[in-house]
Amino acid sequence: MMNPQILIVGAGPTGLALAYSLARQGVPFRIIDKSAGTGTASRALAVHARILEQYEQLGLAERNIKRGHPILSLDISDGKEVRATVKFHDLGKGLSPFPFILSLPQDEHEEILVDELRKIGVEVEWNTTLVSFEDKGKSVNVVLQQQGQPVERAEFAYVCGCDGAGSMVRKGLGLEFPGGTYKQLFFVADIETEKPADAMEKMDMYMDDDGFMLFMSVRNAKTKRILGIVPEDLNERTDLQYSEISDYIENKIRVTAAKVNWFSTYRVHNRVTEQFAKGRIFILGDAAHLHSPAGGQGMNTGIGDAINLAWKLAAVIQGKGSSRILNTYEKERIVFARRLIATTDTAFKTIINQKLRGTLLRQYFVPYVLPSIFKFSFSQKNAFKILSQIHINYRSSPLSKGKAGKVYGGMRLPWIETASGDNFEPLRSVDWQIHIYGKAKPELIDFARSQSLELHEFAWEAKMKDAGFKQDALYLIRPDGHVGLASEKQWLRVLKAYLEAYGIVAFGVE
Ligand SMILES: Cc1cc2nc3c(=O)[nH]c(=O)nc-3n(C[C@H](O)[C@H](O)[C@H](O)COP(=O)(O)OP(=O)(O)OC[C@H]3O[C@@H](n4cnc5c(N)ncnc54)[C@H](O)[C@@H]3O)c2cc1C
Repeated sequence: MMNPQILIVGAGPTGLALAYSLARQGVPFRIIDKSAGTGTASRALAVHARILEQYEQLGLAERNIKRGHPILSLDISDGKEVRATVKFHDLGKGLSPFPFILSLPQDEHEEILVDELRKIGVEVEWNTTLVSFEDKGKSVNVVLQQQGQPVERAEFAYVCGCDGAGSMVRKGLGLEFPGGTYKQLFFVADIETEKPADAMEKMDMYMDDDGFMLFMSVRNAKTKRILGIVPEDLNERTDLQYSEISDYIENKIRVTAAKVNWFSTYRVHNRVTEQFAKGRIFILGDAAHLHSPAGGQGMNTGIGDAINLAWKLAAVIQGKGSSRILNTYEKERIVFARRLIATTDTAFKTIINQKLRGTLLRQYFVPYVLPSIFKFSFSQKNAFKILSQIHINYRSSPLSKGKAGKVYGGMRLPWIETASGDNFEPLRSVDWQIHIYGKAKPELIDFARSQSLELHEFAWEAKMKDAGFKQDALYLIRPDGHVGLASEKQWLRVLKAYLEAYGIVAFGVE
């Protein structure tokens, strides 16, 4: 085993996902966190389909799904009646093996990741703080401080700042964190109800002229998470208690709290830092971007950053890819974060805009516009794709080349069920692989074998065309399940040029 060349700073969901993904790919690292252990509050609840797909590649999906519970639909009401229902389950069917939102409190999610890391011999170094760092060009020098211990000086090839919203790594790099802070005050409450919920697998959204709330079951049928905006007259309060807004909440959504487990108020930011990487230092997760909690996208985007960076670091450290691959981390993820912020910001402003509130929102948007948006299956399907992050693509990345059928370089590999399983099963190797939907030519089979590059042939079926594939085209899939190269013909020349441009060597079938 090599000495660790990577330091992961922060063991929140982002740092832990990066750690697990690197470990699965055989890359040594150290992971430190200044706290004494995993977080205790439930915080981010929603784990979306794209993350579950990537967890499935790493062997993490099953345990997380078992621990949480799937949310299959969303009812939107104005306090009087349900105006629209979005059925994630129906919308996502055929698009992802996980057509739901997984409700899993962040503390339980983090515990699972720490335990799975322990099972493969990796311990988080708790009570250990990154105090300072300096990029020397060929390596990064760091100073670490453990409680009651003398300071430790160490050298790493790469430092990954997964150190949350107040990131000292981002600040140490002198990066600005442009964006804004919404003037509304948000609250989050985990309450226990007297009666258990009839249906744990649905969530509710309440919208009216005087408010907005989202609520769903969490942990068990008696515990509910409520997220919403504090009434305007209490906006400046810093010490607000649940009891002060319990009437407001309970009148609107008719939920009565027998016990309050957790209550917190906070300001919501939407920010994306100027750069996600500088020299040998990367920043990921909340350290790089902050979102409104309404879409449940923040934590998912951090885990997505980690998965994107992990295979690139693995390739470079193991000499299986040119260091230029690392530049694509920022290119791919900053574009996504900016686009996401723009989408969630628009959605959020629509909900809270003063002009809409009381007039359009109540009289027009909720009763008429909303139901019609969700009436058309086209927009419903799109809503699922956006929320679940399966629509994510890296089309403008230098690693993305070509198009065959409707599938292009940078796209998430469309999911299809096949006679013997599905086309995601081979992705569990977390390695480059060729997919042919149809028949592979002997020259391609020979070339793939000579390069130890996995080749998977799926017998052509009509539904593959519906998913966007072209019969007999060549798709080169990246270790994270995105299409790198799509070529209408099985041209070796095109494939070789792609592999050579990035010095890509497959890990090889054992
Ligand atoms: C009250 C609340 C409610 C939320 N609700 C939602 C929600 O409903 N949906 C949603 O998507 N998101 C929600 N979030 C946001 C979500 O919790 C974050 O997006 C998520 O935790 C980000 O993960 P991360 O790993 O990037 O950062 P963090 O979870 O912040 O982890 C960063 C880690 O780095 C460590 N660290 C910091 N500095 C150092 C240092 N110098 N040295 C060593 N370690 C360091 C910290 O101790 C911490 O453990 C909520 C957050 C809060 C606070």
